[in-house]
Amino acid sequence: MTVSSAKTHQISLVAHDDRKDTLVSWVGDNLEMFRQVSIVSTGTTGRMLLESYPELTVTAMKSGPLGGDQQIGAMICEGALSALIFFVDPLSPMPHDVDVKALTRLATVYDLPMACSPATANLIAAGYHQGLL
Ligand code: PGA
Repeated sequence: MTVSSAKTHQISLVAHDDRKDTLVSWVGDNLEMFRQVSIVSTGTTGRMLLESYPELTVTAMKSGPLGGDQQIGAMICEGALSALIFFVDPLSPMPHDVDVKALTRLATVYDLPMACSPATANLIAAGYHQGLL
């Protein structure tokens, strides 16, 4: 499965419930980059991003618990992503643990840049601006 786009880079953005506002805010701090790339998100995250930034190119997969994380995992396997930004909630016990493990494993297998917090996501954004993605 590949989401077609004229934009060169496709970045996946996913956030768990208590981190969704943080992700929306972080995207707002990086709008210059996100206007130039395609975004692929899990369902609820994608809808929130589109509500806040209707000008962005966002493809919303199924909601995470219904398989959206696995759809994004398939895109990692197919080389369709330039980066994965996945704001997991470290303060909830075992938050969507199998999905976090699956995406972390695949991102590692395919050496895909992955960030789970704003500070590391900033490094991915810096890498994008330097042409490293
Ligand atoms: P959601 O899924 O964006 O549909 O809430 C996120 C997740 O559970 O990984």
